[in-house]
Amino acid sequence: MGEEAAREKMARAQGSGKAVSVAPGIPGTLMTPMTSVASGIPVAPVLLRGARLVDPAVGRDEVADILIEGGRIANIGPDLGSAADAHGQDGAPIVVECAGKIAAPGLVDIHVHLREPGREDKETVATGTRAAAHGGFTGIAAMPNTSPVCDTGSKARFLRERAAAEGLVRVYPIGACTVGSKGEALAEMGDMLAEGAVAFSDDGHGVQSAGMTRLVMDYAKQFGATVISHCEDEGLVGRGVVNEGSASTRLGLPGWPAAAEEIHAARDIRLAELTGCRLHLAHLSTAGSVGLVRAAKKRGISVTCEVTPHHLFLDEGALGDAYDTNLKMNPPLRTAADREALVAALLDGTVDCIASDHAPHAPHEKALEFELAPFGTTGLETALPLMVTNLIGSSSCGTAGSLGGSNLPGSAGRLDWGTLVQLMAHGPRKVLGLSPVHLEKGAVADITVIDPEAEVPVVPEFFESRSANSAFLGTTLSGKATEVLVGGRFALRNGKVVGT
Ligand SMILES: [Zn+2]
Repeated sequence: MGEEAAREKMARAQGSGKAVSVAPGIPGTLMTPMTSVASGIPVAPVLLRGARLVDPAVGRDEVADILIEGGRIANIGPDLGSAADAHGQDGAPIVVECAGKIAAPGLVDIHVHLREPGREDKETVATGTRAAAHGGFTGIAAMPNTSPVCDTGSKARFLRERAAAEGLVRVYPIGACTVGSKGEALAEMGDMLAEGAVAFSDDGHGVQSAGMTRLVMDYAKQFGATVISHCEDEGLVGRGVVNEGSASTRLGLPGWPAAAEEIHAARDIRLAELTGCRLHLAHLSTAGSVGLVRAAKKRGISVTCEVTPHHLFLDEGALGDAYDTNLKMNPPLRTAADREALVAALLDGTVDCIASDHAPHAPHEKALEFELAPFGTTGLETALPLMVTNLIGSSSCGTAGSLGGSNLPGSAGRLDWGTLVQLMAHGPRKVLGLSPVHLEKGAVADITVIDPEAEVPVVPEFFESRSANSAFLGTTLSGKATEVLVGGRFALRNGKVVGT
């Protein structure tokens, strides 16, 4: 399908009220409308009073009030309270005192495994979006490796409709690149886009064939959509479950070499150069991988990347001798030098966004032997606290060194709030081609309010997720979302999830 035909198809979908539209005159920009949330516009206006407003995209860093009406930001300025009160008793806004807190454009997590359909015992759209709201996110992108895999328009529509019925935050479906994510035949990319898919990925697997990857990119380019690569050369990984090196030697477990990720990343960067497709590399874990992205960006190739909090703040040393399966992830925890290289890439702008790779699993599965247990850690509810604790820090924040096996002395204070907002709000939307959300008058009121001092004990009872397989269990973090507004409606208030 040519570019014109693709755009026409998407325009038709828009005309029929579906979730994708195209911005005329902005090639390659998918404008995703503000749908996919269970409830509509709130009844009452809301006044966020006295927060520090941080939005680097519009040059904002100031203490002020935000008045929200009709799902949008009606006004920003000092002392809006008195003006708002003038609405009278009936129309008086709900006032949220935000002194000492940060208000930011709503955070987005572009790498989430919701497990519905197929493994609702691990997570559902309802529980996953509750976890997202609890973690401070106003939107999440759902990876397609459910059962069945989201590889057709009707499956993307299923997710969109589930999200509309039960989602507390916005859900952006990611469609599979290939049928069943098997890497053999192209999936129904155009149909999925028409049903609201925002990008394509076979995440969970690397697409092993370079030829198939090229075909995927050729098609995605026609649609102006991003391809998200899970970089894993299966021939090199074999039965690997931990980083190849000291961890595999010490624990006697099969090793997973850094090269298995880097070779795949290098290949896909070259294919992005060949096809002109927008490429995003998921959960990069090695110094070599972020080095490849840094070099590719310098050459003007259209490539972006994400890193996860667990790869930023844990390394293979955390494995100790405990064979804790909550520390088994794909890709595996790497060396301390890799971890430090990821932090450096975050700070120098090589990394475009933070993504949690939220991967919920049932307790009986994680209770298996290390080699048999599934890969993955939950992440939606710890991503923001981990970033605040380990890279921003605060006056009362002395817990940075408390993470198992990964002391990060002196790391707090390396990141400022503006960069955090860039990495967790603007960067994710840009990668997916979503409409930007800003703290400015008239903007859609997708807002996250963060208390940098709030203590977060990472214990099973803390989680709204249906699963508690967190790599950070037993730690105490500082910094948590207290309010999340999605289109002006509370999904989180006073730190508690609002809604069904
Ligand atoms: Zn993956």
